Amino acid sequence: MSGRLVVVGELADGRPTRLTTEVATLGRRVAEDLGRPAVGILVGPDAAAAAETLAGFLPEVVAVDVPELVDLAPAPRVAAEVATLVVPEDGPILVGASPDGRDVAGALAVLLDRAVLANAVDVEVGPEGPTTVTPIFGGKSIVRSRFVGRPGIITVRPSSVDAAPAPAAGRIVGRAPAAASGGPTVRRLERVVEASGEIPLEEAPVVVVGGRGVGGPEGFALLQELAALLGGTVGATRAAVDAGWIPYARQIGQTGKVVRPRLYLGLGVSGAIQHKVGMQTAETIVAVNRDPDAPLSEYADLYVVGDLFEVGRALVAELRGRREGGGG
Ligand SMILES: Cc1cc2nc3c(=O)[nH]c(=O)nc-3n(C[C@H](O)[C@H](O)[C@H](O)COP(=O)(O)OP(=O)(O)OC[C@H]3O[C@@H](n4cnc5c(N)ncnc54)[C@H](O)[C@@H]3O)c2cc1C
Repeated sequence: MSGRLVVVGELADGRPTRLTTEVATLGRRVAEDLGRPAVGILVGPDAAAAAETLAGFLPEVVAVDVPELVDLAPAPRVAAEVATLVVPEDGPILVGASPDGRDVAGALAVLLDRAVLANAVDVEVGPEGPTTVTPIFGGKSIVRSRFVGRPGIITVRPSSVDAAPAPAAGRIVGRAPAAASGGPTVRRLERVVEASGEIPLEEAPVVVVGGRGVGGPEGFALLQELAALLGGTVGATRAAVDAGWIPYARQIGQTGKVVRPRLYLGLGVSGAIQHKVGMQTAETIVAVNRDPDAPLSEYADLYVVGDLFEVGRALVAELRGRREGGGG
């Protein structure tokens, strides 16, 4: 019997994360290409309820309710439960490359004695099995890698796949926890929730991004206004975050979040490679910069040379005018 392709899901606030639905979409396609059944696994508090959502993306979802994971960092327990469900023929095992997902992948590698291919943006299937595609050096080079021997664990970068539900909902299989509790555990001491009312950066269709050029925290007021008018949210470069102008949760790039909005609007952002890796897959990239030769000029779809405050205010006036005129 050929084994299954396994998608390990992640829960946040009782729901599968967006990354989980992206990984499930990729997993479904790869399983089809490999001719293997795909199964998703969710471990955590209220996993059964969350499985309903994930079953929209996969033909089968195993839900393991572990209520005590509310207060515990999930990775050790999730990996332990997944290890009890995976049989030797199963693989590859896809996990989202979130902070917790990376921990799960590491623990699973040890528990299942499997290799890990990290940070894939795609998985191709050829006669020799699955091949991961991973950009490195900010996308300057692409690395293709294959497992030697049985397929192992693949971590998938956020925002590299468009989540798309399956034509028909899959079935949900509830399971009691099987792993021994009392193993190594990490207790969460504090949970900081991002300011309410903000659209999560990774989910916003429009991201208005401020860099060092914004000049200070007060400069971000203009960006907030633009984001509200465009139905989006505000992001930032590391320079703006390091200066303390905006919280780290808004940072985009290598050491921040990866976004894939329909529109990226960068104001006073140079577009350094470490920033580019977090936004280069945006559908349309627009930038305003007074330097005609900043790196962003090389990969923006529209590059406006000018003062960000002048252009930003003109844009606010235009958008307000359209709204008041009923132009939407
Ligand atoms: C290991 C490592 C990890 C990193 N991770 C990240 C990361 O995750 N995210 C990230 O963003 N960076 C990251 N960086 C930092 C990165 O290298 C850049 O330093 C940073 O992205 C620059 O931010 P910036 O574009 O805001 O600033 P600058 O590069 O200083 O650019 C500011 C731009 O604003 C323009 N400007 C100034 N005033 C105006 C004005 N009034 N109107 C219009 N334009 C104006 C300037 O012409 C300039 O192009 C990392 C660096 C390292 C070494």
